[in-house]
Amino acid sequence: MLDKISENSLFNSIENIKGIGPKTLKLFKKLCGKKIIDLLLTIPRNYKKRKYIQNISDEHLNEEIVLIVNVIKHLPQFHPKMPYKILCNNNSSEIEIIFFRGYVKYLKKILPTGEKKIICGKLEKLGNKYQIIHPENISPLEELPYLHGSLSVYSLTRGLTMSVYRKSISKALEKLIEIPEWINKDILKKNNWRPWKQTVELLHKPKELNDEKIKKIRERLAFDEALSHYIKLLVTKEKIKKNICHKIEVDKKIKDKIISKIPFKLTESQLKVIKEIEDDLNKETPMLRLLQGDVASGKTIVALITLANVLKKNIQAAIMVPTELLAIQHYNYFSDLFKDIRVNIVLLTSKINNKEKEIVQKKIENGVAQIIIGTHAIFQKNINFKNLGYIIIDEQHRFGVHQKFQLSVKGCNPHILVMTATPIPRTLALTMYGNMSISKITEMPSNRKKIETISISSNKISKVIKGLKKIIDKKLNAFWVCPLIDESEKLDLTAATNRFEKLKKFFGNYVGIIHGKMSIEEKKKIIDKFKSKKILILVSTTIIEVGIDVPDATIMIIEESNRFGLSQLHQLRGRIGRSDKKSTCVLIYKEKNLNEYSKKRIDTIKNNTDGFKIAEEDLKLRGFGEILGIKQSGYQLFKILDPLKDIKIMDDALNEAKSIFEKRNSIKKSDKEIINLFLKIYNQSSSLKYISIA
Ligand code: ADP
Ligand code: MG
Repeated sequence: MLDKISENSLFNSIENIKGIGPKTLKLFKKLCGKKIIDLLLTIPRNYKKRKYIQNISDEHLNEEIVLIVNVIKHLPQFHPKMPYKILCNNNSSEIEIIFFRGYVKYLKKILPTGEKKIICGKLEKLGNKYQIIHPENISPLEELPYLHGSLSVYSLTRGLTMSVYRKSISKALEKLIEIPEWINKDILKKNNWRPWKQTVELLHKPKELNDEKIKKIRERLAFDEALSHYIKLLVTKEKIKKNICHKIEVDKKIKDKIISKIPFKLTESQLKVIKEIEDDLNKETPMLRLLQGDVASGKTIVALITLANVLKKNIQAAIMVPTELLAIQHYNYFSDLFKDIRVNIVLLTSKINNKEKEIVQKKIENGVAQIIIGTHAIFQKNINFKNLGYIIIDEQHRFGVHQKFQLSVKGCNPHILVMTATPIPRTLALTMYGNMSISKITEMPSNRKKIETISISSNKISKVIKGLKKIIDKKLNAFWVCPLIDESEKLDLTAATNRFEKLKKFFGNYVGIIHGKMSIEEKKKIIDKFKSKKILILVSTTIIEVGIDVPDATIMIIEESNRFGLSQLHQLRGRIGRSDKKSTCVLIYKEKNLNEYSKKRIDTIKNNTDGFKIAEEDLKLRGFGEILGIKQSGYQLFKILDPLKDIKIMDDALNEAKSIFEKRNSIKKSDKEIINLFLKIYNQSSSLKYISIA
């Protein structure tokens, strides 16, 4: 029977629903996914009640109603600014449908004289005339069943109407079948949850609009989703654990050598996290550890010291970063610190030329390359590692979870360290990665001065430019960041190029420009010139946002800062204040573009330097998906579950998942099939597709 369900239309394309063609499919795909089950697991944005009345009467005044009317005539409009009225009747009563604006031609088409139509809207009365102003729906008679009762309200997209949405849901609901329950009876009972099929039906067609009841419906589905997520995590973790990984001992000699070369003393915090990582590396089960440390807290050196342990062992280590620029920087930094230790370090990004790429690829394949630094290019299909034992992912918020997992399958079973400046609350971290261990750098290097942050209107930009003279006199570095416009690199470039030309008039060759369209060599050259102070003012698009480290950079100017998000501003500001010199961040804004939110963001940045506080504010303003970089990578972890609010549900689901997982070897085959079916149902958008509890 379960086979039948697995094969069942729930997993078929929405296109199998009568009335949905390729065009509508595309719209649905954008909103919820392309399978029927995706549609069914879409939570309505809201609910409302609408009554179908056969005869108009005063008793329904000011109610949301559905009414069948006869169109009698379109009344003449004497002036285009006058309301447009259509006289109709319902049995013996007359009613006017009124539009204050509207295209006459269109209205004549949808309400043709002499025809019967359904009108939905609020019934009102002026004098003794009934009227409905701007009806919400005007529909053909056969749509009546979808237009009244307790109605679900869905988030729409341009081109998709509510009635098409509801009709599609109704048709999809017909394909639902009873499925044996997978949630333990006690849990169902305790929470007062209903069987799955009924829950899905009630989600879209609630019998009564009672908040408590609707909450229960959503809760059960959220629990399902959390449970499937946790089971998947446990299964994956088990798989990872089964494979033995490389035990990597500390190489004290190399470590001391590196430490003797760095021009500062490691903070207690850095030493502590290094120890935590070393202990993990020295085990036969692979490490999965998250390293949190605010912007500029010194994560890179931690990564490097722990990486060095692989060098004498014929094990490869890789570090993946989100931008090419950062890859180059790490490459240079690592090459420099490893200078008199024989190490083969390679740089791999998607932009290096094919010939070089081939050479690098070979080196990775035959094991000559010991440390591989690069962007996501390092885990493309054609890259095969000889013996990858340790992976570091820098600035994790820029990558999707699926990319991380993709990388981990490249090694035999590598240790993984994920580094981030975004403080992820523990519950969220748990949700994302199961029981990942967490290390924190809690103190900043002691030499740091507080960064002063000011905001200034764009009409005073000449003042800012004048202020930059000081930079030239003192031979310090300044960044000038131009905004992201419509996420289009081309437009970004125009803004940056214009600014570059203007600044050049004042500061001549001291001004440089860097942007994503440059070749890797050009970028390298510019950054070198900036570091060696041939260039002092660097105009840039947001490509410098993460990780770039130029210790003498003391000024960060952000143009149209109102366009940037909080974490972006924090990251950008993190490019300065990296030494003992006093730094200033200048947030330029366009007065006319300032709204409540952008104002709040600018104030938050001005008043806070602590990344944790800023992340908290960010969380409030944007929700968790974006913070974790899930949205940025177009990857959504959950459809129903809200990890910020459903903490209790998640806890319960985790416990249940553990209990199912522990029993997995003694579960009856038929029960296993049920569990796997649910995993499939809730696994539609997941990267960990088709994992089953074998
Ligand atoms: P992030 O944590 O943002 O990746 P980085 O690793 O780039 O920060 O470090 C920021 C700067 O601080 C670098 O220039 C680095 O050399 C320097 N740094 C790191 N650790 C210390 C320390 N213990 N004392 C002083 N400076 C440090
Ligand atoms: Mg960094």
